Amino acid sequence: MAKHTIVLIPGDGIGPEVTAATRRVLEAAGLSVDWVELPAGATALEQGFDNVLPQRTLAAIQAHKIALKGPVTTPVGKGFKSVNVQLRQALNLYAAVRPVRSMAGVKTRYDHVDMVIMRENTEGLYSGIENEIVPGVVTSLKVASEVACTRIARYAFRYATRRHRRKITVFHKANIMKMSDGLFIKCARRIYEEEYPNIEYEELIIDAGCMRVVQDPTRFDVLLMENLYGDLISDLCAGLVGGLGVVPGANIGDDAAVFEAVHGSAPDIAGKGVANPLACIMSGVMMLNHIHEEAIATRVKDAYNRVLEEGKTLTRDLKGTASTQQFTDAVIAKMAK
Ligand code: NAD
Repeated sequence: MAKHTIVLIPGDGIGPEVTAATRRVLEAAGLSVDWVELPAGATALEQGFDNVLPQRTLAAIQAHKIALKGPVTTPVGKGFKSVNVQLRQALNLYAAVRPVRSMAGVKTRYDHVDMVIMRENTEGLYSGIENEIVPGVVTSLKVASEVACTRIARYAFRYATRRHRRKITVFHKANIMKMSDGLFIKCARRIYEEEYPNIEYEELIIDAGCMRVVQDPTRFDVLLMENLYGDLISDLCAGLVGGLGVVPGANIGDDAAVFEAVHGSAPDIAGKGVANPLACIMSGVMMLNHIHEEAIATRVKDAYNRVLEEGKTLTRDLKGTASTQQFTDAVIAKMAK
């Protein structure tokens, strides 16, 4: 089996706990890997780097192409530009892919949810261009470029075709943001009409879309949207299937990919050993599929599915009492049988 070199960014808060758990699970499943562990976030500053995203960390991802990342803490309203925004922009990780699925053993109000959120990851209101025009008046620039809107639309349709998904729904607010969101849907519509008429296509104004998601999430398949909407809808949809502890993610570009859970650094539970590592483990499974280690991916997936189905070793967010380590041990034990 080929040996992989993967950059591991433990991150802040619960990041080191959930990435360590993931590392154990992937290795127990048979992944042959050299981890290149490097910091980002508040941890990087604590280690004496002068930026939350050290150049060394960025260069390692550029060199090795693949990273598994824990969440990082981003100060509100001050401080450095977010590590995540910097990473996604610097590495052109233009597609955030977030599968949201009902899982056996995780009881929620909804059954049979199976959708993928496809979020444009490089521009929109996350371009970070904010100005104080006159004292007391600030603006924030929402950027939409034809190149980025077309690129994410094409990625979404290609993904849907390869994964045998049936429909793409674009969430937008082009009734108000006629130019920026208008461009987003114009590009998506063009890719649908010219390249992928095999996939069903619909557009929904996002406020009505949110209502429909909570009324019946099973009517949705792939959701395509710009950056900010994708951020919000990801957490909304996580809530439909059991919370942030069970939703993985991938940030994909043409030259590199960074895999990370949707959740943040959860400072309220950091260091207590109670975080659910599953979302990070699931992100690891997405990573395994990306690097063509499908057999190992299936082994990990089968193991955590069996632990969830049994329902005996669940973390607190899933109404259980297990610690991070107990859940991780249970997943590893299932792979041995
Ligand atoms: P959060 O996702 O960290 O936490 C929201 C709630 O969900 C908390 O109650 C937390 O305890 C719970 N939670 C999250 N992940 C969990 C897990 N794996 N197991 C059990 N419970 C879990 O969101 P927040 O509190 O709004 O943000 C905290 C920090 O994380 C902020 O600085 C934010 O900027 C950052 N953040 C980082 C990323 C990232 O690095 N990808 C993503 C989102 C937020």
